[in-house]
Amino acid sequence: MKQNNKRHIAILGSTGSIGTQALDVIRQHHDKFVVEVLTAQDNADLLIKQALEFKPNTVVIANETLYDKVFSALDPAGIKVYSGIKSLASVVEMEVIDIVLTALVGYSGLLPTIKAIKAGKHIALANKETLVVAGEIVTKLALEHKVDILPVDSEHSAIFQCLAGEFHNPIEKIILTASGGPFRGKDREFLKTVTKAQALKHPNWSMGAKITIDSASLMNKGLEVIEAKWLFGIEAKQIEVTVHPQSIIHSMIQFEDGSIKAQMGLPDMKLPIQYALGYPNRLVSDFPRFDFSLSHNLSFEKPDLETFRNLGLAFEALDKGGNIPCILNAANEIAVAEFLNDKISFLEISDVIERCMAKMSFIKNPSLEDYINTDTETRKLAQNLIIKV
Ligand code: MN
Repeated sequence: MKQNNKRHIAILGSTGSIGTQALDVIRQHHDKFVVEVLTAQDNADLLIKQALEFKPNTVVIANETLYDKVFSALDPAGIKVYSGIKSLASVVEMEVIDIVLTALVGYSGLLPTIKAIKAGKHIALANKETLVVAGEIVTKLALEHKVDILPVDSEHSAIFQCLAGEFHNPIEKIILTASGGPFRGKDREFLKTVTKAQALKHPNWSMGAKITIDSASLMNKGLEVIEAKWLFGIEAKQIEVTVHPQSIIHSMIQFEDGSIKAQMGLPDMKLPIQYALGYPNRLVSDFPRFDFSLSHNLSFEKPDLETFRNLGLAFEALDKGGNIPCILNAANEIAVAEFLNDKISFLEISDVIERCMAKMSFIKNPSLEDYINTDTETRKLAQNLIIKV
């Protein structure tokens, strides 16, 4: 990555939680970054507001019915406007772009990320599902095209920060920390009747709805285990999850001499976003600092895999490999959406995923097309299972 010039950035998903915080970071560092592309799914009003402030070259509104609205607001400002999912994948190829921040939700991030890598763009990866679904293909492509995949997920950013100066040293183990979410310490009896309002109340992090439900079910940690495997080239047995409710240690690495490095700080996604965009430099920030003079208790406990079956299912998917993580992800996306639609209960999320993993046919070495088909077929199967529930 070039060191001195301003970095030209495309933000896919600029109106979501990560996208808006990335723009907060860029607003503080106008001397370092230029926004070239902003994209949104449905939030035309915020996209227009952001574009008028940051003056990107191009915006994309994925929802085509909103094109006229966005066009009439931004065309007079000389900003190019496109709509539709296909435009998302083509804007990332723009010559001027150095880094693409992928902050789309779920599977939708996969194809634009692949396009961006093929166009030689570095990736600031906030869309973990891309690596869950097709980690092998994506990491291979990144090597071939000599682009960096810079993790934005706080745990993976922590590991990446601990690796600075250690890239030649083998990793013995990665210890991923999990907050445990709003239902830590609860049993299945309690989870039977929890509502989406309860599940959406995360104790430490304010995030989008999908990832917040994933955090409550520990699926988020499961997806992160798979993400870690591909980002850091390690095996499932080298990844341990520990529940650390205070979310101060964002994750740790154990090296072959037994030494453990941790990255710490108050929970704030702006820090990993800024580290990825500015890498390898640390930029100044006025984020609140952790104060050791206050009395803190940092605690650690084993995750409860009996109650939170999703984490076990994710380890199982990683162990089986092939298209199984893709099946896990697609089933989870449907199940979470239908939980948010009040169609299934919280515990039934795991039932849907487990049945999809058992019923879909296994492909050992999937091509990209196989992944696309697996995703489509699993979504259909999950919807059918939900209708029957
Ligand atoms: Mn995370």
